[in-house]
Amino acid sequence: MAYDSNNVFAKILRGEIPCKKVHEDEYTLAFHDIAPQAPVHVLVIPKGAYTSMDDFTAQASDAEIAGLFRAVTKVAEMVGVKDDGWRLLSNIGANGGQEVPHLHVHIFGGRRLGRMVP
Ligand code: C5P
Repeated sequence: MAYDSNNVFAKILRGEIPCKKVHEDEYTLAFHDIAPQAPVHVLVIPKGAYTSMDDFTAQASDAEIAGLFRAVTKVAEMVGVKDDGWRLLSNIGANGGQEVPHLHVHIFGGRRLGRMVP
């Protein structure tokens, strides 16, 4: 699927709409989800134009891929969930329930999370 540069996270990256930023580095931006599903619910996105994990892993550089996953753990620590346990989730495509077509991983935590039921 071709990348849609008008998606909401592309607009956040361009500063066209605001977000509650948690962290930013060369490769990533992390911000609080606008509709949190847990006491801690943060999204981490790559700065590159990737629709999902599919094209990210196929096309991104090793540095971008490492940068995303290093940022995820750093953000989990920054928001205070790292020591208590947390969840990392990425919805991919229609069957995966992905709503925003820019790769994002969700960090959930801050309470005992329910079991994952597909
Ligand atoms: O994985 P999925 O695409 O379904 O998740 C998109 C997430 O982006 C939702 O949790 C939604 O609340 C969040 N969102 C946001 N800020 C926006 C638009 C959507 O945090 N401006």
